[in-house]
Amino acid sequence: EGPFGIEPGSDRRCNTYKKGSRMTIATNLGFSRMGINRETKKALERYWANKITTNELLEVTGQVRQEAWELQRRAGLDVVPCNDFSLYDHVLDTAVMVGAVPERFEKIDDDLDRYFAMARGSRCIGDKTNLAALEMTKWFDTNYHYLVPEFYEGQQFRLSSMKPVEEYLEAKQLGYQARPVLVGPVTFLSLGKSKGGQFEPLDLLDSLIPVYEELLSKLHLAGADWVRIDEPCLAMDTDERTMEAIEQAYSRLGAVNPGLKIMFTTYFGSIGSHIERLSKLPFAGLHLDLVRAPEDLEIALKTIRPDFTLSLGLVDGRNVWRTDLEHAVDVAIEASKHAKIEIAPSCSLLHSPIDLEGETGIDLNVREWLAFSKQKIEELAIIAKTVNSGRSSVQDKIDENRAILDRRAHSELTFDPDVRKRSGLIGHDMLNRQSAFHVRKPLQHEKLGLPEFPTTTIGSFPQTDEVRKKRAEFESGKLSHDEYHSYLKERTTEAIRWQEEVGLDVLVHGEFERKDMVEHFGELLKGFVFSKNGWVQSYGSRCVKPPIIYGDVSRRQPMTTAWTRFAQALTDRPVKGMLTGPVTILQWSFVRDDQPRSETCRQIALAIRDEVVDLEAGGAGIVQIDEPALREGLPLRKKDWPVYLRWAVDAFRLASSGVRDETQIHTHMCYCEFNDIIDSIAELDADVISIETSRSQMELLSAFGEFSYPNDIGPGVYDIHSPRIPTQDEIETLLRKALEVLRNDQIWVNPDCGLKTRRWDEVKPALAAMVAAARALRKSL
Ligand code: GLN
Ligand code: ZN
Repeated sequence: EGPFGIEPGSDRRCNTYKKGSRMTIATNLGFSRMGINRETKKALERYWANKITTNELLEVTGQVRQEAWELQRRAGLDVVPCNDFSLYDHVLDTAVMVGAVPERFEKIDDDLDRYFAMARGSRCIGDKTNLAALEMTKWFDTNYHYLVPEFYEGQQFRLSSMKPVEEYLEAKQLGYQARPVLVGPVTFLSLGKSKGGQFEPLDLLDSLIPVYEELLSKLHLAGADWVRIDEPCLAMDTDERTMEAIEQAYSRLGAVNPGLKIMFTTYFGSIGSHIERLSKLPFAGLHLDLVRAPEDLEIALKTIRPDFTLSLGLVDGRNVWRTDLEHAVDVAIEASKHAKIEIAPSCSLLHSPIDLEGETGIDLNVREWLAFSKQKIEELAIIAKTVNSGRSSVQDKIDENRAILDRRAHSELTFDPDVRKRSGLIGHDMLNRQSAFHVRKPLQHEKLGLPEFPTTTIGSFPQTDEVRKKRAEFESGKLSHDEYHSYLKERTTEAIRWQEEVGLDVLVHGEFERKDMVEHFGELLKGFVFSKNGWVQSYGSRCVKPPIIYGDVSRRQPMTTAWTRFAQALTDRPVKGMLTGPVTILQWSFVRDDQPRSETCRQIALAIRDEVVDLEAGGAGIVQIDEPALREGLPLRKKDWPVYLRWAVDAFRLASSGVRDETQIHTHMCYCEFNDIIDSIAELDADVISIETSRSQMELLSAFGEFSYPNDIGPGVYDIHSPRIPTQDEIETLLRKALEVLRNDQIWVNPDCGLKTRRWDEVKPALAAMVAAARALRKSL
């Protein structure tokens, strides 16, 4: 017997699948790694804090994998994915697997220490030498972040970890029919960065292919009959070089192991224009994201060989809505007449919360419209069953699904006639401030009376353990509303007093009442619901619980005016009103799929507009509307950028243009390169924009200089992600660099981002240095 009381190699945990059968199977591309109750997250954080041993960590994560397989099998999968689990990130796993470990980490002996050092830097393993972690960036257009592999000229790869084989064997031992999932060699190289030397990552393909060949042989030897290789890079703008790399790699990989079939997997966009070339390559199957690109199916059916298997990504893997089963079944049955098929989600379910069942807090009317991973797998099973056994076998389920979708389509909960009417009447005048910036600027100067190089912060002050504890106590009913509020008032008052003392020019209330910049507004707006446990991984152990936008959005009542007014009454200096912008609220939520995203965004913008106007009426001279997610909403293909940027910019303008000329609108953006969208940033027409620049030593600013960006800018002068306290000198040097590309009268002085993750003993000296640097600069010029 195996470790969990299951006969090794037994097939009794498989549903319908038999090797070599022509059954249409339900399968998956990947699953959450976190565990139903975020066991992985908790274990990782305890491990990093030295509270549990390596063995304990591995025991928890082994259990999480087993539970994930069991849940998927019970929900109806015939073949479960394996090697989709990761202790941090699957791209990092791939880097380690092929031996792409940058030299600086080589001196770390322990495999796991080295792995986490690559993910988080070496500070985290108690080492004095400070090894910088790999860079982190967004996985395509999702909110998942991967670690960027580093490549060196002439780099040689070798198979350095057997994780895919080990996890395959683990699943097999437990009795699961499993299919290993790999990041493909071309996507892996494309996602990396070349360090030094004149070469591109794809130049290294020749050395990488043998590693994959060896791995595939080992997987075959271990008993795998299929392997899923992900090449989502094809959903981006693909040049000829990339297509040639695909051809080179797969003509070799497909030929090594005739017994091991490759499911070539793409998602997040159309690959229609590549299908003909792909179909000539020796893989056995092709996965298509038919949620994002339904049109690809017809092309594939016309093009592929008869022995090919098409994996139909019919269930949305990255949103929370129930599938239209009747439609999916029609598509699947039609396709099955022309090809062998499998039923799958559009992409990995890594991007979906796990289970809807425990979500008792969601309005039942809305809840029935939703499907999390487990429910999505049940849908896959129904679709597969229809293909295998005919509609009648699951007609009741399809009827039930139809009834629910009808209720959703006709629900008054999604539809607010006032919102629709208002959104339909938005005129051009609502998208423009009363006057141009050069007219507004002197009016604002007169009203606010700020010095040159005004100093400010981005909004939040430290969310200390105490603040979080009080919030938890309030949420659990231990603390009354009044007690909690008087506590928040004390913190706010303290923050205002301290900002005055240190000499900041424009103050903030500190955002102590907010847990999260999107959730806070979602909870106050109509059209949103919240799950209790709908977590999805953002990076490493960090998870987010996006709000779900199900209906027309509007404001119930003013959302932030009371706090802003309270803070303003404490001081003579201007206090900024603080809002999250429409694009960011949209981007960091699960968005309804029954109307265009642009329309949902416009509705949010209208609600924010009302708030901005109310803040102004309440006496706020400055209102900041944060849009850190503006850039990450960009579509994967450049041809789709202009349409997105148009509606995104218009949403910001709609939100911000309801105020008088003398009211100053700020915006804030972080984690972002600005060069390629600088004209859109200018079109926002915010009076002041604060941006993250310190980590790039103000290099990011060059775009603003070259573009002759007209409005005011606060280039971040220190990195808030690090506990390091900057010196006045450093900040002055950065500001002088900024002065090389910007006009004196254009520059604001502020940190890179909000300070909520920092401690007060870090924030105080850092901001004191910042204020001193601004004063020194004023004197010297
Ligand atoms: N105002 C927010 C804060 O200071 C902005 C956060 C962000 O840009 N991500 O926390
Ligand atoms: Zn920020």
